[in-house]
Amino acid sequence: MKTVGIYVHIPFCLAKCHYCDFVSYTGKSEAEKDAYLTALLKEGETYQRLLAGITGKSLYIGGGTPTCLTGGQFVTLFSALHNLFKLPRDIEITVEGNPGTLNKEKLLSLQKVGCNRLSLGVQSFSPHELQLLGRIHSVQDVYNTYELARQVGFKNISIDLMYGLPGQTIKEWRVNLEKATAMKPEHISLYQLNIEKGTPYAMLVEKGLLERFDQDEAFIMYNEAINYLAAKGYHQYEISNFAFPGKEAVHNSLYWRNEEYLGLGAGACGYLQGVRYTNETNLELYQKIVLTQDQLPVAEKELIDQELAMAESMFLGLRLLQGVNKSEFLKRHGVSIENRFADVLKKLKKQGLLQETPTFVALTKKGIFVANNVFQEFL
Ligand code: SF4
Repeated sequence: MKTVGIYVHIPFCLAKCHYCDFVSYTGKSEAEKDAYLTALLKEGETYQRLLAGITGKSLYIGGGTPTCLTGGQFVTLFSALHNLFKLPRDIEITVEGNPGTLNKEKLLSLQKVGCNRLSLGVQSFSPHELQLLGRIHSVQDVYNTYELARQVGFKNISIDLMYGLPGQTIKEWRVNLEKATAMKPEHISLYQLNIEKGTPYAMLVEKGLLERFDQDEAFIMYNEAINYLAAKGYHQYEISNFAFPGKEAVHNSLYWRNEEYLGLGAGACGYLQGVRYTNETNLELYQKIVLTQDQLPVAEKELIDQELAMAESMFLGLRLLQGVNKSEFLKRHGVSIENRFADVLKKLKKQGLLQETPTFVALTKKGIFVANNVFQEFL
C-alpha cells in the first residue's frame, strides 16, 4: 500500500478577491458543485485502481473556498474519501475556510466528518484592508467563526495573514499581528501580497493606479513578524509559517520534504512516481475528461529526473528552518549533499547565507531574507 499526502481542490468561491490568481470559479449552483464532486471522486477511484492501493498520510482540502460546500456535500465528499483511501483515524485532516462562509452547523459537519484542523483565510483585521483585498468577510466574521470553531471543539486552527498591502504601514501590520496572536491560534501563515498577472490588482498596476509595494518595507514587516511572533511563543519552522510547538502543519511539511502527494480536482497539482503534474483547470473540460472519457485530467506533466529531484530536495527543504537532513538526502538520492553541491555550499556559506551542522544544511537568518536567490543556486 502506497502512503502519500492527499490534496483535494475545491475551486469555488463566493466572489473573486482582487489579488487572486488561484483556480476558483464564482456563481456555481449546488448542482454544479455536486457534479464536480462526482468527477473528483471518480478521479480518486482511477488513481486508486492505477496505483493498486493508495492511502493518505494527511488530507488537505484547499481551494478556492472549500467551505462554499454545504454540510451535506462535505459528508458526501468525506465519506467517499474515507472509503476510497481507507484513511487512518489519526492523520491530520485540514479544511481551508473563509470566515464569511462558516456557521455553527457547517463547523459541526466538518467535525463530524473527521476534519481536525481548520485553516482560516483571515488575511487582515482591518475593515479597510479587507475591503481593499476584495475579501467577502468582515472582521466580526473572523471573530465569530473563530469563537464558534473553538466552541464546537476545533483544537488546531491556523490563520493566514497578508502583509505588503497597498498603503499598509508597519504600524498597521503590527496591529494585525497583535490581533491575530491575541486569539491564540495554534498556527499562523504569512503571505506577502504579490501582484499576479491577470488579476484586477495587476490591471491597476499597468494603468499606473497602484504602486508595487516597496521591497525594503516588506522585509521590515517580515522581520517585525518574525520577532513579534517569537515573543508570543510561535516558533518559525518554515519561511512563511509559525506554530506553537507540535502544531506544525503535517501536510504542508511533506511538500517541503519533497515527498509524494496525490492532487485531485481541477487545477490541482500532484507529485507521484517521479512525475509532477497539474490538472486541467477548466471545470467542464475536467469533468468531461474524468467522467466521459474515463481518463486522468492531467493537463501538464514533468518527469523529475535524479538531477532535478536533488535540486528540489534542496530548495524545498531549505524552506524549513531546520533545513535539509543530510542522511535523508543521501538515502534518497544515493549521493551526499556535500558531494553533489560542494561548490554551491562553499559559495553560499562564504556569503553567510547557508549554515551546516553534522546533520543539516540550513539557511542562515540572512539567507531567509534572500531565500529565492539561494534557491536559484541549486538549479
Ligand atoms: S477566497 Fe481565496 S481562492 Fe477565493 S477568490 Fe479569494 S483568494 Fe481566491
